Amino acid sequence: MRVIMEPSLADRTTIRLGGKAIAELTVENYDDLKILPERCRELGGKPFVLGRGSNILAAGHDLPLILIRLNLKPKLGVYARSGDKIYLRASAQIPFAHVLRYCLANGLSGLEGLVGIPGQIGGLTAMNAGSFGAETGALLHSVLVWSDRGLNLIYQKDIIREYRRLKFGDLPGSPIVLESIFTLTASLKSVILKRANLNFLEKKSRQPIVSLSAGCAFKNPPGLAAGKILDMAGFRGKERGGMAFSSQHANFLVNLGNGSPEAAFDLLAEARETALRKFGIRLEPEVRILS
Ligand SMILES: Cc1cc2nc3c(=O)[nH]c(=O)nc-3n(C[C@H](O)[C@H](O)[C@H](O)COP(=O)(O)OP(=O)(O)OC[C@H]3O[C@@H](n4cnc5c(N)ncnc54)[C@H](O)[C@@H]3O)c2cc1C
Repeated sequence: MRVIMEPSLADRTTIRLGGKAIAELTVENYDDLKILPERCRELGGKPFVLGRGSNILAAGHDLPLILIRLNLKPKLGVYARSGDKIYLRASAQIPFAHVLRYCLANGLSGLEGLVGIPGQIGGLTAMNAGSFGAETGALLHSVLVWSDRGLNLIYQKDIIREYRRLKFGDLPGSPIVLESIFTLTASLKSVILKRANLNFLEKKSRQPIVSLSAGCAFKNPPGLAAGKILDMAGFRGKERGGMAFSSQHANFLVNLGNGSPEAAFDLLAEARETALRKFGIRLEPEVRILS
């Protein structure tokens, strides 16, 4: 197991904000997984599995966390075929973009709706990431997870899909996703590529994908769009201390380069208060807040 003391969250998140955790433990084999609880106890912090850090907003002070990173032998490839179904296995630490490129190169259709999501397979799975009507959880055949109960393969029928969250059967806590197996179909490469390109252009035209951000700040309340609510509340483009709600998409909180976690939290709190006062709507954070 590789150990780094006092890892910086600012260096490990796409919004480039956050203080230092106690340590970062990189799991390299199954024995490492077994000794994780003991190592976390010794180091005196709460474990937090970190993927690409594209959905994380961390406070600027020292955080009582032990970051868990995965670096098990990576697996990416077709696992099985049945009728017109093709099952693709991908390890948690593999960037989604890499998996999508594999699908495009091999004529595997299903994941192209998720194009442009900057996370890793484990993060997309844990967050049930979605866009353009595609949802990670719905595309899963099964997920290999590690929890207090050891290794478990959880099949689709036992995966409970919630908004930006998956639950794995009756496993307690937050199991670590090790591998995801997706149910895909064969399709013409040109057709998948065209669909992926169109989705990407659509995403690029609507979202500030090149800015430093953590994706959507707030969840969409049922039947409503958080971006629209923020827009109507006057937060589109609103800046404070080097942070701003994007003028392209009001639900993206962006770091203009010199932002701070304090400014980010102030803006989020003000937006929540305003949405509640003006429209009676309680906005819930979609970004995972570490404080
Ligand atoms: C520009 C931009 C665009 C985005 N567009 C979208 C979009 O269209 N749709 C969408 O849903 N999201 C979007 N996001 C948000 C983000 O990319 C997704 O939530 C993504 O799934 C997070 O993956 P990650 O690897 O970065 O996870 P992290 O941000 O590192 O972690 C997110 C959560 O997942 C957990 N996690 C990570 N890996 C594992 C694992 N192996 N096992 C268990 N838990 C784990 C973490 O503990 C944490 O709770 C966007 C973000 C950005 C910056």
